[in-house]
Formats: sequence, structure tokens, C-alpha cells
Amino acid sequence: MSICLLISKDGRHKPIQLPHLQTVVLGRGPETTIKDKKCSREQVELRADCNKECVSVKQLGANPTSVDSKMVGKGNRLVMRAGQQLYVVNALYPYTVCFKEDASPCQDSTEKSVGAKRPHGPSSVDGELYKEPSGNKVPRGAQDSTHCKHGGSTNSPPSKFNPNPHTAVKAEMLGHWSQGLKSSMQDPKMQLYKDDRVVVIKDKYPKARYHWLVLPWESIPSLKALCREHCNLLRHMNQVADRMVQQHCPEHDLLKFRLGYHAIPSMSHVHLHVISQDFDSPCLKNKKHWNSFTTDYFIDSEEVIGMLEKDGRFTLQEGTEELLKLPLRCHVCGAELSTIPKLKEHLKCHPYGRP
Ligand code: AMP
Ligand code: ZN
Repeated sequence: MSICLLISKDGRHKPIQLPHLQTVVLGRGPETTIKDKKCSREQVELRADCNKECVSVKQLGANPTSVDSKMVGKGNRLVMRAGQQLYVVNALYPYTVCFKEDASPCQDSTEKSVGAKRPHGPSSVDGELYKEPSGNKVPRGAQDSTHCKHGGSTNSPPSKFNPNPHTAVKAEMLGHWSQGLKSSMQDPKMQLYKDDRVVVIKDKYPKARYHWLVLPWESIPSLKALCREHCNLLRHMNQVADRMVQQHCPEHDLLKFRLGYHAIPSMSHVHLHVISQDFDSPCLKNKKHWNSFTTDYFIDSEEVIGMLEKDGRFTLQEGTEELLKLPLRCHVCGAELSTIPKLKEHLKCHPYGRP
């Protein structure tokens, strides 16, 4: 079976893999590096058929997506083949597709020039809000990123649990920091538990004494890609998380935990945070870290499941990003603290995350 790559003609980022018969939603955001407000965050839905060597393109956003000079139209689909050009919005942001027999990158001239412009090093970053070790800031949501992040799983889980062994692709495509979870979830040293649907890993930069991530094997890029059919999977993720707390936290009778999602995650691939409420960790370093776990930026998984049951989709509340700028406030007693060191000192009076 071949693989399908979506290639940015203007070389803004590395090729994005479109896994066979999986839906990938793209638009404004770090995956495409498109910042144009005319482009919806969910502008196009792409579904590659590697057997037929074509990609179904559905326009989700209000402004026009086109294939060559043909407008798709909101809610409509067009089929695109190699040689044709997809313009994500308003005849801008051109892409081509290519189908390859194996996991090696396309060898056409476009692909080569893309590769030459954007050499990828190994992933080496905390991955949130968050700072590269080199000191280069990587904004949450990576709005300014010039790197590639994509929706489809490009990696195969390591065991018999692999649901789609045909989607393996070169490691370099996973090299960007925002893809780090996809590598970690397959690293036996990181895995604490796995079954046929999910894997649990340690958070690489834990923000509390216990901080794990539950990830589905299914390739789901973000909360926005969830629909009603995912409710069962999310419930299973919750059950697994509860069991992790019971089995791996000797203090679970005392220590409070929360299970939830960042409203705007920085890492690709849906991941449920399982985090103890002591927030006792050297990795918790700044206001954004704090507010991302203690304001409405952190959404309880029950709430996400409820939203999917009711509306069939996850909706981001307006102003969510602003929550990261709120003053530092104790999550237990509400006291306001002026600095992170003062907050950390104060947290000593709530060692179990309780009053
Ligand atoms: P977010 O995407 O904001 O929900 O958070 C991503 C989480 O992943 C953060 O808590 C990071 O500490 C954690 N993280 C970042 N990179 C990795 C990695 N390569 N492996 C495991 N955890 C990671
Ligand atoms: Zn307090």
C-alpha cells in the first residue's frame, strides 16, 4: 500500500502525511503555519484513498477552498489527484499530493526543495507553551511556528495493538516538537499501561508529583476532531486513568487528582492529562503552566464527554487563550500570589491539593 503526502508548494513546512482512509482536518494553525484569519482553523477535511490514489477534499470553512481553479464550496467535496493543486483558502496556500509506495519522502523537485528549506532535527522540547531548551519560545498553539504538525498518525504502535500498520512513515516527519507524544506513546520506557485502544505514558515534564497522559492509538489530532462516536473511547480513557490513580499512586486516598484536557493543546494527538493537585514539580515554571491546569483552560474529561454527547462536537469557548494571562491564584483557597516562587511556597499548605 502506498502512503499519501500533502506537500506545501510554497515550502512553509514539511509534508503532512494523510493516512489511508482517515480524516484529517487542516486550516489556520501550526500544522499549516497559516495565520490568515480568513482561513478557518478547520478549513478543509481531507481523506486520502491510497488505493485509488486520490484525496477527497471537503470545505468546512466559510471562505473558498479550491482544487485547481474549481471552488469546492462550503460543505461540498471534490476529488483531488496527484498533479492537481489544492488552495486552502482564497486561492492561497497551495498544496499538491503525492502517493508513494513506501515510507520514504517524495522525490519530486517540490519535495526536495521543501526538505532543503526545513531540515528537521530531533525533537527536543517540553512541547507546551513552552520553551525549547535552546531558549527559543514556542508559543502555545504554536501560532508562530514554521514547523509542521499534522493530523494523521504517522507512526505505528509497537505491538500487536497496532490498528493500522500501513501508516508507518519516516521518523523525520515526526521530528517536530509538537509530534513528541506520538514518539513517546510508542516508547516502551514511557509506557505504563496499554491495551487495544489506549496507552498511558508518563508526562515528560510533569507539573505535579503524578502526571500521566492517556492517549488513544486511534489517530485523533485534537479535541476538535472528536465526534459523538468517540464518547465510548473517552469514557474508556477515563476508566483507565482512574485505575492508574488507584494502582500507581500510593497516596490516592489523600491526594486529589483531575482528569482533563487542555482546551488548546500544544501537542498533537488527543491526550488526557491525569494530574495530581499538589502541583509540586520543578517543571512547573511559569504562569502559563499554572493557569493551563488551574483555570477553565483545563477542561474536565467529563465535561468534554458531556459536550460530545449533547452537541456531537467539542466547542472552544471564546477568550480561552486569555485565561493563561490571569493572575496567579491558588487553586484550593483562591489566594492570589504575585510570583511563582511565592505560589510554590503557598502550595505547601495544601500538600494534597485539598483545603
Ligand atoms: P498540552 O498539549 O498542552 O495538553 O500538553 C502536552 C503535555 O505533554 C505537557 O504536559 C508536556 O509536559 C508533555 N510533553 C511534551 N512533550 C512530551 C513528550 N515528548 N513525551 C511525553 N510528554 C510530553
Ligand atoms: Zn491556597
